[in-house]
Amino acid sequence: MVPKLFNIWRRGLHTTSARLQVIRGATPTKRICIVGAGPAGFYAAQLILKQLDDCVVDVMEKLPVPFGLVRFGVAPDHPEVKNVINTFTKTAEHPRLRYFGNLSLGTDVSLQELRDRYHAVLLTYGADQDRELELENEQQGNVISARKFVAWYNGLPGAENLAPDLSGRDVTIVGQGNVAVDVARMLLSPLDALKTTDTTEYALEALSRSQVERVHLVGRRGPLQAAFTIKELREMLKLPNVDTRWRTDDFSGIDNQLEKLQRPRKRLTELMLKSLKEQGRSSGSKQFLPIFLRAPKAISSGEMEFSVTELQQEAAVATSSTERLPSHLILRSIGYKSSCVDGGINFDTQRGRVHNIEGRVVKDDATGKVDTGLYVAGWLGTGPTGVIVTTMGGAFAVAKHICDDITANVVDTSSAKPGYDADGKRVVTWDGWRRINDFESEAGKAKGKPREKVVNIQDMLRIAGV
Ligand code: FAD
Ligand code: NAP
Repeated sequence: MVPKLFNIWRRGLHTTSARLQVIRGATPTKRICIVGAGPAGFYAAQLILKQLDDCVVDVMEKLPVPFGLVRFGVAPDHPEVKNVINTFTKTAEHPRLRYFGNLSLGTDVSLQELRDRYHAVLLTYGADQDRELELENEQQGNVISARKFVAWYNGLPGAENLAPDLSGRDVTIVGQGNVAVDVARMLLSPLDALKTTDTTEYALEALSRSQVERVHLVGRRGPLQAAFTIKELREMLKLPNVDTRWRTDDFSGIDNQLEKLQRPRKRLTELMLKSLKEQGRSSGSKQFLPIFLRAPKAISSGEMEFSVTELQQEAAVATSSTERLPSHLILRSIGYKSSCVDGGINFDTQRGRVHNIEGRVVKDDATGKVDTGLYVAGWLGTGPTGVIVTTMGGAFAVAKHICDDITANVVDTSSAKPGYDADGKRVVTWDGWRRINDFESEAGKAKGKPREKVVNIQDMLRIAGV
């Protein structure tokens, strides 16, 4: 009985007015704004709310819906990874947190406005662009980024019309990170295995007509530098009806280096060698073809040309030899990229991240002086690498700096700050997100899927009731 009543009371707090009462009751109030509702934003909020009991945290998210790449990046056939959403939801339902969905830094609100309205601002808006190869013809229709392809099957608003051409036999993926492997698996998985995931309906429909049989996964360096990890490779090797074929030459001399390797790299290499040894024993109608020591050189219709490379101190150096691969569709998977969304951000365009020292944003590059009260965490601060656990560790560390700086009065909290005023703006509250969530779960139930994502922003706003 008591837990039930407690839940009803907690749920009551989710209404904006009840939350505001709690917030107003806590004086003096330290106001912290977090920009971006992905893993970095939620983990930072979690720690700040735990450590500072007289603060209010406002989370601003560009999209009406939260969770960043957990919703729009993580592969649909990895539902267990998405369980972090439960932790984020608990944080979001904390009485001293307010969620403002559909509010974009740089478009709807400026950094200066946030700095005027909060004691501290933490930027965690991630990396939503992609790196380019800078080759001629890269903009032609059959070359798309893995980022866009991932966004397409995961239902990111605006990606639904991508229409990747799956009518050819050969797909070439450039890059050998885990994103590349995710994309290869989505292309080669039996449709039935995807039908019970939250893959968008339009992507399932397109994949059902796919003629793709061979996926080349091309890396510019060797097997010892492959960026994918063992769990992801093992999954590929177990895919039904898919035959993995390695090139024996790529592994010449690798055996001798095994003993020198760190344990995770050693285990990954052993798995590749085992799979190489066993290849040909089974067969499938589709093929997964990892290829090493090939650097992108040119793109032409239906083909991609690569330079054969040699390793010099682990760097790929192009030789004069080349190889062409049939490539009906080319997916560039060489990393995501952050962007500067507001002129007030000291953005390092070279490295694609905000200038910072351990999460404290640097004001003056020459002196390294930090901009008091402005912080960055997640991929926006580190660059676009690292799994959720890595992002969590980094976000906790930056959040701790925020708490320490506030406690030590490095950040001045002596005068009251008003926080954001959403008056008249079409902002999605956490209650609004819960309505979208319920709608999606219900729509998914009918199809045996965990959810059917709403992909249109106007539909999201309508369902959220704004
Ligand atoms: P994000 O998750 O990108 O969150 C940033 C948030 O900021 C987004 O919600 C975005 O909409 C919002 N935003 C953007 N611009 C603005 C703006 N102007 N104003 C307000 N808000 C804004 N890790 C794993 O552990 N397991 C996996 O299986 C896994 N799969 C992955 C698959 C893919 C395709 C990718 C790309 C990554 C994957 N990762 C995985 C890594 C993981 O997703 C990242 O470590 C993590 O999401 C980074 O968190 P973040 O908060 O920095 O960025
Ligand atoms: P990544 O791991 O950094 O891999 C990028 C790949 O692109 C590397 O193979 C890299 O090769 C290659 N590359 C970069 N520039 C290139 C160029 N100019 N020409 C040719 N190749 C180039 O990045 P990611 O795959 O985007 O993944 C990002 C992060 O998300 C990673 O930490 C990843 O582990 C994580 N993630 C995890 C999962 C999971 O856990 N299942 C799934 C997806 C993503 P070089 O090494 O030679 O530079």
